[in-house]
Amino acid sequence: MLPVDWSLVVAGGGPAGYMAAITAAEQGLAGVLLLEATPQPLGKVLISGGGRCNVTHACWDPRALVGHYPRGSRALRGPFSRFAPGDCLAWFADRGLELVEEPDGRLFPRSNRSSSVVAVLEAAAEAAGVIVWRGASLRQVEAREGGGFSLRLRLAPGLAPAATSTLSAARLLLATGGHPSGRQLASQLGHGVVAPVPSLFTLALEANPLAALRGVVMDPVGLELRLPSGRFRERGPLLFTGWGVSGPATLRLTAFAARALKDTGYRADLRIDWSGGSSADALRQRFRLARAEQARRRMLNARPWPELSRRLWIHLLERHGVAADQRWADLRRREEDILLEALRCSAYGVGGRGPFGEEFVTAGGVSLGEVNLATMESRLQPGLYFAGELLDVDGVTGGFNFQHCWTSGWLAGGAIARESHTCDPVGPGSADLVENREHR
Ligand SMILES: Cc1cc2nc3c(=O)[nH]c(=O)nc-3n(C[C@H](O)[C@H](O)[C@H](O)COP(=O)(O)OP(=O)(O)OC[C@H]3O[C@@H](n4cnc5c(N)ncnc54)[C@H](O)[C@@H]3O)c2cc1C
Repeated sequence: MLPVDWSLVVAGGGPAGYMAAITAAEQGLAGVLLLEATPQPLGKVLISGGGRCNVTHACWDPRALVGHYPRGSRALRGPFSRFAPGDCLAWFADRGLELVEEPDGRLFPRSNRSSSVVAVLEAAAEAAGVIVWRGASLRQVEAREGGGFSLRLRLAPGLAPAATSTLSAARLLLATGGHPSGRQLASQLGHGVVAPVPSLFTLALEANPLAALRGVVMDPVGLELRLPSGRFRERGPLLFTGWGVSGPATLRLTAFAARALKDTGYRADLRIDWSGGSSADALRQRFRLARAEQARRRMLNARPWPELSRRLWIHLLERHGVAADQRWADLRRREEDILLEALRCSAYGVGGRGPFGEEFVTAGGVSLGEVNLATMESRLQPGLYFAGELLDVDGVTGGFNFQHCWTSGWLAGGAIARESHTCDPVGPGSADLVENREHR
């Protein structure tokens, strides 16, 4: 016999849903059911970080942390002051998973395998008594008069338990990520949803004049996107691809400019400072030194500074009609001015979005103003909670997106457990009813 009344139903078996379900159950809530539409919960965790899972980022101060969230930003200060990356580290360590910091601040499991993260979450859910149904998709929700929700599911034959497709839940948490179904359910329940747009993508350049540099990394460079609605700037590593540009600086840029770029159909004017922010005087000094020290060498073979990629230097000489086989001593003043300008500000046309980078998230989702960010409970519908990417929150690449999932899931799970203890003296979803603890 399978229960039809649950204390808490979590829709979405991603990191946010798992964290919420585990936290609620560990804090004493019985009758927690987690629904995952696909056969494999935590699917994105498995493929994340190139199979290594960048769990979070070593950014310990919530005031600094919020700067990595183009959507969410300052509103997240409160949530992050309750559950920050340090708490996440401790949470996983308590459950046997050590996270290791890389020089750029990203934190990965010591095993370097995302499957270790999945294993810890699955084991913690099982130990806490969370029931997981795979192949169970939440299709419809109705708020009941007097509290709670009636839920209608679609159950994949052979995967989900042969249960009734209608359940009731005292509390409901939506953690469906970027999937449209969660946004539809939220709007059915009266919530405003900010239209979704992609974030964290690479840029395709018109006729890609940099194609010959494919695979080269330049670090740091300054990027500026000029759009009708404003200018967006970033500085950091740039990776050249077959279609244009990628790498952390590009992904950060497209995250902050996600909506503005969507408005122009992903066409924009991109300016690149190859010097990474050197002043005009500093660059001219470098040229003076190059003329003095490499006077007899050909420009082609002698870059103005060693970190400047040789292929990029040749591209700039060719693009600006400066003879690459002339000697430094023969470089005319006008040519020097052109090269100095090109090194500080080269213009390229963005013609569209490239394929997604390693990480890809949806910007937009349930409006934050309608959610109490201390508990993640809806301000419109008591008993309804949200966590993770379904909310109008997204971070840049580096572990920030998962951190928001851990934080919002932990806050929601804790609040639900506390609320249930206070309000439900005899909670529904008695664990006694559960015979089929997990249906795989
Ligand atoms: C390739 C890739 C790599 C990434 N790498 C990283 C990284 O290293 N670090 C990082 O911080 N972020 C990374 N991200 C982003 C990160 O994966 C997401 O931000 C995060 O997974 C969002 O978690 P979530 O729990 O909100 O949603 P999801 O992980 O999307 O989980 C939602 C789950 O809900 C299920 N679902 C949807 N609708 C229903 C329904 N109606 N009923 C039942 N179940 C439903 C879905 O099948 C899904 O399993 C990466 C993203 C991608 C695509």
